[in-house]
Amino acid sequence: MPVTNTQVVNFLRNKEGLTLSKVEKEAGIPRGMLSKAVSGERELNQDHLAKLYPVLVGYGWKEFYKTKAKVIAVVNHKGGVGKTTTTLNLGRALVLLGHKVLVIDMDSQGNLSQALGVDNPQKQVMHALIDDEPLPVYPIAENFDLSPSDLTLASREIEMIRMVLSELQLQRALEPKLSDYDYILIDCPPALNVFTTSALIAANACMITLQPEISALKGVSGLFEHIFQIQRRLNSGLYIEGVLITMVDHRFNIHRDIIDQVRNQLSAFRIFDTQIRLNVALKESQISQIDIFQYEPTSNGAKDYMNLAKEITR
Ligand code: ADP
Ligand code: MG
Repeated sequence: MPVTNTQVVNFLRNKEGLTLSKVEKEAGIPRGMLSKAVSGERELNQDHLAKLYPVLVGYGWKEFYKTKAKVIAVVNHKGGVGKTTTTLNLGRALVLLGHKVLVIDMDSQGNLSQALGVDNPQKQVMHALIDDEPLPVYPIAENFDLSPSDLTLASREIEMIRMVLSELQLQRALEPKLSDYDYILIDCPPALNVFTTSALIAANACMITLQPEISALKGVSGLFEHIFQIQRRLNSGLYIEGVLITMVDHRFNIHRDIIDQVRNQLSAFRIFDTQIRLNVALKESQISQIDIFQYEPTSNGAKDYMNLAKEITR
């Protein structure tokens, strides 16, 4: 994990019981360096920072900074608007930018899990939601993990609805994972059901995907009202990260007209500068069970999702 001079100085100034000379010795950096850094006389260089980090972890760095993941729910009450494609490829792009990422499949159709090559998972999100087990995590690639689901989730939806405070279960299960990741992306089902509500309660941000169709804005006010209700009642920390327009083809005048309409109607919200273009490689990669960066790294789909990742981390 990259650390900065400012973070280290802040830690050294505020952490009780540290002896600077002892830390210098353990990290193998020149004597007197840390007192100069603390007084602002000198800045620690990359070599010093790299040597210091493991030593400072031993002195409680992580607890001090409480490193916590940013949790983003990808939502829309409609199906086929790019939620799963976005969760998967934005997740992968964030990994390529050096982040550690967990993606969670909250849709009983299990499209995200299948697209990542996990079929009929024995342990799945449902076990954490309904049976109070820890959230299962399957490694997909380095720094990229998945909590999977399949149709079994749908078969137990009624049980979930009958349970006391079931909407809080995902938040509870996610809490111990927050310090393990930089980003956690939750793929929501195409309905404002108990699983979408759970995701919005567990998240600290949400992203809405919209396809530029005539019906794109239909029902969107209901979606926003649902988000606002959750903000008011249960999760005041929930923030609308932005609206992502997907499957755009600029050759169609109608797409341009609809995008203008979206900008007008949703002017109170951030509309991401990055738009995801219609790109058949995205569909093909999903069928081949790999992400777009492995399937066709030079495709428009790969470029667009990388730009989105950069826009989000800026
Ligand atoms: P949702 O999760 O909202 O139901 P998906 O992400 O599964 O939507 O997308 C629906 C379908 O459209 C899938 O077959 C997917 O591969 C395809 N798709 C998604 N985004 C694009 C895109 N930008 N270009 C072409 N096809 C896409
Ligand atoms: Mg989906």
